Amino acid sequence: MKAVKVRFAPSPTGPLHIGGARSALFNYLFAAHEKGTMVLRIEDTDLDRSKSVYEEEIIDSLRWLGLNWEEGPGVGGENGPYRQTERLDIYNQYVEKLLAEDMAYYCFCQPEELEAERQISGEKGEMIGYSGKCRSLSKEEIAAKMEQGIKPTVRFRVPEHKVLIVDDLVRGSVMFETDLLGDYIIVKSDGIPTYNFAVVIDDHLMGITHVIRAEEHLSNTPRQLLIYDALGFDLPKFAHISLILGSDKQKMSKRHGATSVLQYRENGYLPGALFNFLSLLGWSPEGETEIMSSSEIINQFKLDKVSKSPAVFDVDKLNWLNSQYIKKLTIDELEPMLKPFLGDSSYKEQIDKLTDHQFRLLITAVHDRLVCLKDISDEAAAFFSDLHYEKEAWEVLNKPDVPQVLEAFKANLSTVDDIDAIKQTIKKVIKDNKLKPKDVFMPLRCALSGVTHGPELPYFISIWGLEETRRRIDHTLARIREN
Ligand code: GLU
Repeated sequence: MKAVKVRFAPSPTGPLHIGGARSALFNYLFAAHEKGTMVLRIEDTDLDRSKSVYEEEIIDSLRWLGLNWEEGPGVGGENGPYRQTERLDIYNQYVEKLLAEDMAYYCFCQPEELEAERQISGEKGEMIGYSGKCRSLSKEEIAAKMEQGIKPTVRFRVPEHKVLIVDDLVRGSVMFETDLLGDYIIVKSDGIPTYNFAVVIDDHLMGITHVIRAEEHLSNTPRQLLIYDALGFDLPKFAHISLILGSDKQKMSKRHGATSVLQYRENGYLPGALFNFLSLLGWSPEGETEIMSSSEIINQFKLDKVSKSPAVFDVDKLNWLNSQYIKKLTIDELEPMLKPFLGDSSYKEQIDKLTDHQFRLLITAVHDRLVCLKDISDEAAAFFSDLHYEKEAWEVLNKPDVPQVLEAFKANLSTVDDIDAIKQTIKKVIKDNKLKPKDVFMPLRCALSGVTHGPELPYFISIWGLEETRRRIDHTLARIREN
């Protein structure tokens, strides 16, 4: 059997969208599972909308996600070039062949004419396709029009009354009637081939065995099948993967939050978590666990486990997965990852003054609370913001034993460098005063931080240091007494 070879073929007309990333991922997983290879091909034939900055962003996003390719930009390969605008000569040879064999023809109809035609057939309720006006121009008519400088398009002559079947690995057999297609353009009047033409030439010449792509291209596939047939190329296998919907079951869009991969990176999602999450959009692993490493996913990935129903993008699930991935990191791993997210924190100055030890304590304190790396900025704020008492905290502070607890803690606190020592001090206050743990922990927390919840208190104390901790206790005591 031929070795599996897949391709991801983005158009660089925008950043890499979550849907595109999922297509790239499924190609990658399938190839990796089958010990095959992947090609990255840049489909930049839309000259107005294609931008090299998008190409760079797409490549950056794919690499960040760990989706590497064996052939393509940055890697090379024997089937290049891998940018469609650099392959125009190649397409031309095939266009010439189809023209010579009368399987394609020049069309001189102008956009306004075609629009008028569409309007009329639309009003009559007829099928909207090309009328076939230029289908049978004579050589002389063609030469005359060329002479006048009219730039033609090239249309593919669609055979009439045929039924085409796309044998899809995800969707099963899907039928299309050629009579509904109309002769379609394969080369635009500027000489650039259309997607439906170039994609076939490229997939054939690059030896692609499996075309795995978004469902929206299923309706393009019959047009591509006809080109395969006309040029005598063997068909690859097709797999059209379902749409991704937002949680309201509408097509995923900006309304549903971040749609580009780089936005997720900027918000502090981990590539492993996003990889894991995207793999579950339309594919189900065996067994219960959904937290899987890339190699576990590769091991299990099969196209017959890919669902044809739309996948729902559940942000809560992504957040949960991401927090699980963050929890698995060590403080050593986390530290350099968090630093970039503190760059524009309002407490940057205070954070910069922390010793390495204090900074690591801060990370340790908030580690389990991070949903994404970006959260470090808000979490760190709790350590540096001024003391304000929220209502619940103030109620706790107004209980009778509180001043006594605070005084005792202050008197006993002699070192803040060691978290265990601080814990021991708190325990001593509990024991000496014959109180319940919560009657000491809660007042201390409220007195020191002004809130009833948050990371473990000893970490705060250690980061503040002795002086600031005492100052906070005194401040709270004064406020209680004033009251
Ligand atoms: N350039 C197309 C797109 O970005 C690729 C379609 C395909 O994979 O055939 O949608």
